[in-house]
Amino acid sequence: MARFDGRIAVVTGAARGIGFGTATRFAEEGAAVAILDLAQESADDAAARLVESVPGARAIGVGADVSNAASVDAAVARVVEELGGIHVLVNNAGITRDNLLFKLTEEDWDLVMGVHLKGAFLMTKAAQKHFVEQRYGKVVNLSSISSLGNRGQANYSAAKMGIQGFTRTLGIELGPFGINVNAVAPGFIATEMTDATAARLNMDVEEFRALNAQSNPVRRVGFPADIAAAVAFLASDEASYITGQTLYVDGGGTLGSGM
Ligand code: NAP
Repeated sequence: MARFDGRIAVVTGAARGIGFGTATRFAEEGAAVAILDLAQESADDAAARLVESVPGARAIGVGADVSNAASVDAAVARVVEELGGIHVLVNNAGITRDNLLFKLTEEDWDLVMGVHLKGAFLMTKAAQKHFVEQRYGKVVNLSSISSLGNRGQANYSAAKMGIQGFTRTLGIELGPFGINVNAVAPGFIATEMTDATAARLNMDVEEFRALNAQSNPVRRVGFPADIAAAVAFLASDEASYITGQTLYVDGGGTLGSGM
């Protein structure tokens, strides 16, 4: 029996990158999966790719904006109706709008807070109704090593450290209802998000990855599968005594950065 047989998992921002890798991992381990992403078409495309690559997988695409309450409520209702419930929620959708503080606009502050923090809040609130009723639920939130501070990312860093406080608080509130809430804080993961950062810095993607690989103890960058493995563990019943925690999955990149 696979770890997620009979489970239904929703992964936000899952049309590509870490989200798609995580949705694939859940499907490989038996879960039915909802690939939630901003555009219905890209969510559908990703669901079709997943079904093609994982024999026997069940996946649907759900177009929704995690920062919009009505959109989130409709999306969670659709998942419950079409897949028959919800057991696992991964709050992965994310954007960056990097700039030094003096150039950072109010709009870019609000956008980043809206997707990461408000998005995780709205999605978790919509899912917890079902989780509490069934006395079972797993939430995994995506934080980042940037939560510890990163030049040019005051908005993103604040949101990602906010995710950790959100995770700890929900660990306390939801634990009595059989719900575990944890976070994963990735280091450099090779995705379109980090490729876009390379482009912004006028660097070649491979050169940028090599530079990041050199700066951590395991001397490589991470890949979506590295994060998917950690998320799947935290969402599994093997981790039922773990809640409110943030697991850094960064090749040791933040080791030695403490005071
Ligand atoms: P990515 O490749 O940019 O994918 C993010 C996905 O989220 C995209 O498909 C995007 O859709 C979707 N999205 C954006 N806004 C949304 C919204 N309002 N509602 C629903 N979906 C939305 O990013 P990634 O690198 O896989 O990162 C995934 C998560 O890990 C993010 O939370 C990120 O902050 C975190 N993280 C990443 C790294 C890294 O090195 N890559 C490191 C630490 C943490 P569109 O394409 O339509 O915008």
